[in-house]
Amino acid sequence: MATRLTVVGSINLDLVVEAERLPRPGETVSGARFSRVPGGKGANQAVAAARLGAEVALVGCVGRDEVADEATVSLREAGVEEQWIAKDAATGIALITVDVAGETTIVVAPGANSELRPGDLSLGDADAVLCQQEIPAETVAHVAELAPRFFLNAAPARAGAPEAELTVVNRLELEALGERRGLVCLTLGAEGAVLLEDGEEVARAAPPAVEAVDGTGAGDAFTACLVVSLLEGRPREKSLRRACAAGALAASRFGAQTSLPTAEEVDALL
Ligand code: ADP
Repeated sequence: MATRLTVVGSINLDLVVEAERLPRPGETVSGARFSRVPGGKGANQAVAAARLGAEVALVGCVGRDEVADEATVSLREAGVEEQWIAKDAATGIALITVDVAGETTIVVAPGANSELRPGDLSLGDADAVLCQQEIPAETVAHVAELAPRFFLNAAPARAGAPEAELTVVNRLELEALGERRGLVCLTLGAEGAVLLEDGEEVARAAPPAVEAVDGTGAGDAFTACLVVSLLEGRPREKSLRRACAAGALAASRFGAQTSLPTAEEVDALL
């Protein structure tokens, strides 16, 4: 039977410009190419987990606007169970600039994502719940209390993240996390990732070499793959290697939900 995972998190539409380079403050960079891609860390990780073979539900908020349909297209295509709620606010938007090296700058207008309240939650019969930090802190704290098993991608960085069975962070997010018990996974971009238990390194993996196109979605593919692999009962080291491969595949392709790999693609790369 497939692992049942509920993701509680954000849903955005990413407005992406691919530019020669990232502008400095006050500077205009011209000649960029524009696209609209479904995004939001919650939606990205839900789509990623579904492509990796899990049975996934997404709890989140969109607005009562046309952007909502566009932002949720990949979720429907991936067969994610629709537990998102419409609120009187704009659907979340992320303004993303990507340069030729795949580096990004991102500004988020959360809109409806900020309206997801503890009272909106019903976690149903999920085996496990995965959150990120693009929804209110009180809601994440509530999920941490309710969930039978709780996994957290503490991104973007925010103080006061609740304890989780596993917390996934990048270097910047680790600083905001403070002292942690339990498992922490630190991602290191092209260098891969390290698994820490009570602050001690217990595993490390490097991703296969890929040509970086766009880092958007790499952390989401990584997190979803690590959580799904562990829930499916794979050992930590194997799970970490699979997650690195999933992150590398996402980094080698354009966009967020456009770049998320399937289980077959991940295992083929390994
Ligand atoms: P975030 O985008 O959240 O800061 P990272 O940049 O650390 O996360 O990327 C997450 C994971 O994706 C990494 O641990 C790695 O496995 C993979 N990854 C990211 N960038 C690259 C890259 N350029 N080449 C290979 N793998 C990458």
